Amino acid sequence: MTINEYQKELDKILQAYEKPYWSPLSNVAHLVEEVGEVARVMNHKYGDKPKKKTEDPDNLADELGDVLFTLVCIANSEGVDLEQQFQTSIDKLTIRDKDRFNKKQ
Ligand SMILES: [Mg+2]
Repeated sequence: MTINEYQKELDKILQAYEKPYWSPLSNVAHLVEEVGEVARVMNHKYGDKPKKKTEDPDNLADELGDVLFTLVCIANSEGVDLEQQFQTSIDKLTIRDKDRFNKKQ
């Protein structure tokens, strides 16, 4: 599936709900929550914060999926073509910043 296809698929699913998308600020707050959950997983894995014995096992992939889901919700509700913008981001690295970082010899 392409990014555009994911955007359309999610929109199709969400249009079945009375309120397909949350308000912009709620979407952003949700994104921050999900990014925080990624940070928590990484802190448990690499940082100084020990995990409680009663906590469920960390699942980085699950939390990254939640971040992506929320990003797609924001893009859809704001009319952003993520596929086009992702290509723009790649172009920043490969064209605009092509000599900025050292490459393997
Ligand atoms: Mg989550």
